[in-house]
Formats: sequence, C-alpha cells, structure tokens
Amino acid sequence: MDHSSVSLPPTKAHLPYDVASGEAAPFVSIVVPCHNEAENLPALYARVRAVLDGIAVSWELICVNDGSQDATLPGLIRLQQQDARVRVYDLSRNFGKEAAMSAGLDQARGEVIIPLDADLQDPPEVIPDLIAKWREGFDVVNAVREARDGEGWLKRTSAHVFYRVINRLSAIDIPRDTGDFRLLSRAAVEALRQMPERRRFMKGMFVWVGFPTASVPYRRASRHAGRTNWNYWGLWNFALEGITSFSQAPLRIASYIGLLVALLSLFYALFLIVRTMAFGNPVSGYPSLMVAILFLGGVQLVALGVIGEYVGRIYEETKQRPIYIIRRSWAADTAAKDDQDEQQA
Ligand code: UDP
Ligand code: MG
Repeated sequence: MDHSSVSLPPTKAHLPYDVASGEAAPFVSIVVPCHNEAENLPALYARVRAVLDGIAVSWELICVNDGSQDATLPGLIRLQQQDARVRVYDLSRNFGKEAAMSAGLDQARGEVIIPLDADLQDPPEVIPDLIAKWREGFDVVNAVREARDGEGWLKRTSAHVFYRVINRLSAIDIPRDTGDFRLLSRAAVEALRQMPERRRFMKGMFVWVGFPTASVPYRRASRHAGRTNWNYWGLWNFALEGITSFSQAPLRIASYIGLLVALLSLFYALFLIVRTMAFGNPVSGYPSLMVAILFLGGVQLVALGVIGEYVGRIYEETKQRPIYIIRRSWAADTAAKDDQDEQQA
C-alpha cells in the first residue's frame, strides 16, 4: 500500500507524559530489545548518536534488557550514565523479543518511534530517510530489505515460504522483507498499545493497525557481533504463532478435510452395499477396514491438534497476565511509568 503520490499532513498526537513534568519530549524514540547483546552496545550507541545528532533532532534511546545472561545490563547502565538520553528498562526475566519490544513501545515518548535490533542488522543510517517519509505524511514507514547479507539460502527460502503461507491464510498482508525495523508515528504506537493480546505477533500487528504506509529500501547487514537468538525450531514456532494469531484457516481446513473424508466414506459404503447385494458377502475386507480406521483416526488427531493450538492460545489470553514485567529502570528524569497503566492489565 504505497501512497507516494498523495501528501498528507503529519499526524500530531498528544504527548501524555511530559506535559505534567514540563519536560520536552524527544522527537525520536529508538526502541531496542536486547538479549545477550553486550558486544554490540557500544557500536549501536555510537552509530545511533552519530546519525541522530547528525540531523539535529532530539532523541532518546530506549533499551529493554530482556533477561540477558551476559554483560548487557551493566553495559546499558554504563551508557545511561554517560548519556541521559539513554533509558534502560530491565525485564524480570527473558520474555522474548516481542514482549521486550512492547515494553519499549510503552515507555517511548517520542513523536516518532523506531524499533531497532541491537545487533546492527538494521543500520541506523537509514533513519533519516524514514523520518523524511514521515514528514511527507506517512504514519508507518517500513524499512524494506534489499539484500540479506550473511543469510544462507535455507533461511531465505523458509522466509519466502513463510510470507507466502501467512499472506494466503490471513486477512492482513504482511509486507515481504520487512522486519521490525520501521518508523511508527505516535498515533500508530497508541493504536498498537490498544491491542491487548498476550501472544504478540508484532509483524502482523504493525500491519493490522493500518495507517498510511510507505517504505524505504535498505541493505540488511550481517550481525555486528554475537550469535542470532533464533534457530529453525524457533522460526517454525514463530511462523505458527503468526498463522494462529492472524488466521483461522487451519481450523477451516481441518473441517474441510473432515468433510471430504466423510464424503469418501459415504461413497465407499454405497459401493460396499451394492457389491454385497450383487456378489454376496464372503468374509474379507480386513485390510480396507484397517485402512479406513487408521486414516480416520489420523485425520481426527490432526484436527484435534489444530483445535488444541487455538484452545491453548485462548487459555493463555484468558489468564490476562501482563505481557512483561519491568524489574527496574534507569532513566534520567522519570521512573518507569506506573506499572498497572503500562502493562495494559
Ligand atoms: N531479542 C530479545 N529477546 C529474545 C531474543 C532476541 O530481546 O528473546 C532481541 C535481540 O537482542 C535483537 C533482536 O531481538 O536485538 C533480534 O534478535 P536476533 O538478532 O537474534 O534475531 P534475527 O535478527 O536473527 O531475526
Ligand atoms: Mg539479528
């Protein structure tokens, strides 16, 4: 959905936090979920600072430590002590990237908000282009990968299949080659924050909220340091998450398969009746009986499994647990905003 020809005025939303304290909100909030990223932090900070100071905008760097086991937290606190524009929120354990990002979005105060990976795979140098598009009036500006350096064909192929499947099965259209790196206007973030789900499939949620959307191409780099937190099992589960969060097609497919099997057995039954009446009934047919029983059993188990996936998710949503828990924050002026409000109880 590209509106490159129209020009809309930038969305100006109210800034709920800083009015009271009299403090000016920064213009840009960079939101970084960090899980074992100690080696990347100095470079991340240096590059973000160079880019944003380069275009002379006020900014804050929101870092959410997502239960790292390495020196990420001390590293973040050190950055915060050097530069008060860095704000650090420490989650009580590892909640996963999507939850960590939700925490960061909840704390962000800027007029434009940009989620960024800590590993510098999303180059901060693209940010001025994103902001330029926002100034043209777009609420959401996707950064779209032109090339994927340092990713094998297996990852590329599985990503391709993933987008094909999810866009076929769901009502939303998730743009290809777009990660979480994008610009969101304040209005878009407020819309996201209204979404109460516990299982947060951000890629889909960003699209679901709508808003005028543009895209800017960029070259996705290899990880600056460290190892990716994903493996193929993780990616598989991520894909399942996406499909079940945004589509009920698997349930429908299960019922169609059931219907098909029922129809086939009906025809088979008719055939058996006719054959018995014509040729009598010598006791045979054990193999066909077994095949039918096993096949039906298999189909039923698959359908049950699909239903189970959804029931499990319903169960988790009904528990109404917070999406994340902030253990402590290090931020110059305000403490972490009141928890009850923040975690969208
Ligand atoms: N991340 C996180 N919590 C997790 C896993 C990852 O906050 O449980 C962060 C990680 O620190 C990084 C971003 O999410 O900033 C993307 O992770 P990664 O680079 O491992 O994923 P990939 O780029 O391979 O998709
Ligand atoms: Mg990465």
